[in-house]
Amino acid sequence: MFCEAKHSKFIYYLCGCPKDSGMEINMRFDVLTLFPEMIENIAAQSIIGRAQNSGVIEVHAHNIRDYSLDKHRKVDDTPCGGGKGMLMAVPPIDACHEAVKALAPEMKTRTVYMSPCGQVLTQKKAIELSNYDRLIILCGHYEGIDQRVLDEIVDEEISIGDYVLTGGELPACILVDCVSRLIDGVLASAECYEQESIASGLLEYPQYTRPYEFHGVKVPDVLLSGHHAKIAEWRAAESLRLTKEKRPDLLEKNN
Ligand code: SAH
Repeated sequence: MFCEAKHSKFIYYLCGCPKDSGMEINMRFDVLTLFPEMIENIAAQSIIGRAQNSGVIEVHAHNIRDYSLDKHRKVDDTPCGGGKGMLMAVPPIDACHEAVKALAPEMKTRTVYMSPCGQVLTQKKAIELSNYDRLIILCGHYEGIDQRVLDEIVDEEISIGDYVLTGGELPACILVDCVSRLIDGVLASAECYEQESIASGLLEYPQYTRPYEFHGVKVPDVLLSGHHAKIAEWRAAESLRLTKEKRPDLLEKNN
């Protein structure tokens, strides 16, 4: 079972606020990107948006281009040795990372590069990352990033699956989303994620709500019986049945 996320809590004073208006945040994300609006727009919605509004998480997007010293604000260049496409160059990324690190140096931080070459993201990895105070997430674009800056600033590379995207922004949002929902105060209670598919080691049982009959198909009687032990037994059996049917590899992994 992967349900043991621990969350450090601390008082973090927002820049510019009077000291006594400090608010408690449980996780800070700093995303380094060429397309900050992609991050801001997605992170402003739904549960993640609400969590930001209530102050339990913060998601900041930083435009790497703002750190380019080039007069045309150039951030990429052709690959040494030839080949197609453009690579993101070292100096703006390094300068951006330095500046962002300095915004909250006291926080326990991990720097992650979203990359198809990384370990594929799992719930276990999300729980591990939720124990940091802050994640700095680097998004590549074009053909990727000069290896030297990766070697210097990145603690680990994470992929969201064995396929290639045009940029790291959507992967970064996926990481922000799945780590955030493990953070105290983001979901109503830890039960919301502990019993879910994958987190429990099994897929979730089928769920139903009203109407009790749809196109002649009724909600299973046991769920309307009010008998808690029987409901729990039915759900456990259904979880196992579905996992065997759809994802037998999960059962092998847990043995
Ligand atoms: N030439 C690179 C791919 C570059 S794709 C290669 O062959 O490995 C451009 C950027 O998109 C990457 O730098 C990375 O940040 C992001 N990206 C693409 N696919 C991804 C995936 N599966 N998971 C996470 N990030 C990905």
